[in-house]
Amino acid sequence: MIYVAGVDVGNNTTEVAIAAISGKDDVRFLASGMVPTVGIKGTVRNAMGIIDALDRALGPIGIPRSDLHVILLNEATPVIGDIAMETITETVITESAMIGHNPSTPGGQGLEQGRTIHLDALAARGAGSETLIAVVSGDSDFEGAAAKINAATARGVQVVGAIVQKDDGVLINNRLTRPIPIVDEVKFIDRVPLGMPAALEVAPPGRTIERLSNPYDIATLFGLDPEETKRTVPVARALMGTRSAVVIKTPKGDIEERRIPAGKLIFLGHQRRVEVPVDEGADAIMDRVAEVYPLEEVQAETGTNVGGMFEQVRRVMADLTDQPVTAVKVQDILAVDTFKPQQILGSLAGEYALGNAVGLAAMVSTQKLPMLRLARKLEEEIGVPTIVGGVEADMAIRGAMTTPGTRAPMAIVDVGGGSTDASVINDQLEIKSTHQAGAGDMVTMLINTELGLDDFELAECVKKYPLAKVESLFHMRHENGSVEFFQEPLDPRLFGRIIVLQPGNWVPLDTKELLGKIVAVRQQAKRKVFVRNALRALKLVSPGQNIRMIHFVVLVGGSGLDFEIPKMISDALMEYGVVTGRANVRGTEGPRNAVATGLVLAYAKHYEG
Ligand code: ADP
Ligand code: MG
Repeated sequence: MIYVAGVDVGNNTTEVAIAAISGKDDVRFLASGMVPTVGIKGTVRNAMGIIDALDRALGPIGIPRSDLHVILLNEATPVIGDIAMETITETVITESAMIGHNPSTPGGQGLEQGRTIHLDALAARGAGSETLIAVVSGDSDFEGAAAKINAATARGVQVVGAIVQKDDGVLINNRLTRPIPIVDEVKFIDRVPLGMPAALEVAPPGRTIERLSNPYDIATLFGLDPEETKRTVPVARALMGTRSAVVIKTPKGDIEERRIPAGKLIFLGHQRRVEVPVDEGADAIMDRVAEVYPLEEVQAETGTNVGGMFEQVRRVMADLTDQPVTAVKVQDILAVDTFKPQQILGSLAGEYALGNAVGLAAMVSTQKLPMLRLARKLEEEIGVPTIVGGVEADMAIRGAMTTPGTRAPMAIVDVGGGSTDASVINDQLEIKSTHQAGAGDMVTMLINTELGLDDFELAECVKKYPLAKVESLFHMRHENGSVEFFQEPLDPRLFGRIIVLQPGNWVPLDTKELLGKIVAVRQQAKRKVFVRNALRALKLVSPGQNIRMIHFVVLVGGSGLDFEIPKMISDALMEYGVVTGRANVRGTEGPRNAVATGLVLAYAKHYEG
């Protein structure tokens, strides 16, 4: 009898299966272990994570590492994914400055128009018909500010609105003889241009502004011609959905519009070369990829957005895998249409508009060499013979077949972090497999960018768990509409917030988006990545490229744990008459541990006692 360890190093997770082998068909699994992968998959740094995972599996069953007969590594010709987003066009507007945000307590309400003037300059103004909007910087307290505005009003100066740096809108307004709309919490108050025509709008509680979010109203207010009106579109779009806003017309002459070319992708296949402009969108790009398959390389037009991205991918990969940049070839990409918040020049409170963008996951296959190096490194570190055994996708299917109720012919889809892999096994037990760029990490990236979270961990959390809105201290409304009541009051910090129901640790989101919108972004991101990839992966491995020839699909990998992804894939495959379900490796592991388990089983087949 020997003890062996199967080790699967993934982009995200390193999984281990420990078994006792006593004969070709006598394999007893004893333990499993799982840790986050250390370093990029297929690099020597992985060794640390592997040792950790081994210890976690071996510790509880009391077997020392030195008792292992052999360690089996997956032959991941390291498939390394990288993801990036490229904005298709970028428009920079310097003609109008704007402020639009949701301060919790703006003052007053209504739409007013006037020339911007510093609070302290009011004292020098006499009575007149020109309307003014006072700009109140952080060094003025609310009582002083209110007093100065009241004094001006008393002299017949028309102060119709105010822009305030601190959170003082309500406090000032309460002290005014004649209430005015006030936009407060304007961080960059010193950048508000003075002496310029401005329009200011504050919506009633629970409503959003209506005028300054409409390009034609902006045109009406400032007397813009059609060309100028067109340029206010990003401004108007950025102001949509806010409670209060200011638009300021800045001096003529700084109008500038700039478009950065998105660039072209070039697909090189066997004796074929196809180009596609990135701004034709994801569908066009993916149609072209399918035409050229199998890809030998993907290139990008230099000097463009997408060119820059590819350069970056190649450089990072070359570094990590210790190869010359020229040896790094991008062998698959997945494109998805998305939105990317774009900063608007002239914004005074950090506003943005959503621009169209294309998200790309690129996959780089490097040589087998790095895995061998990793094996040597592991032997050195812990003194256990280590071999690189078996192609990852082949091993995954062997592992998946330990799911009760499965048998060949069948197919698996491994939905991981960096890539989506599919394999089929036929009646003769022949295995065919493929790797596709793009999986869970890309979904997280899309959620992160489209919601403007700027926090990968938080986006990961939004991806994994459902949402709820805490409507009172004693009840929350779940995203499916059901209401849950609580005996004990909830944490007051959650009150009125949208929260992510991460088990044991609810996370409030700091966002102005509505709950339904967040759910939609989350689900679309999952669909865009996984449905497309599952279909194209299965097509490539199915007999005659016909998915209908496959009858059973089993999902393995971390994203198989997702609460929505399996159903989305299942729905998409239903059309082809394919039954889809989540694996339960060895009847105990769920969709996890398929590759590690498969490695052990494949090794046992050659065991000579
Ligand atoms: P790899 O083989 O590339 O290391 P894994 O099979 O570990 O990848 O899958 C990693 C992916 O699974 C990540 O994108 C992660 O967000 C996702 N994932 C892990 N657990 C869950 C979960 N409970 N719900 C949804 N996604 C999950
Ligand atoms: Mg994996």
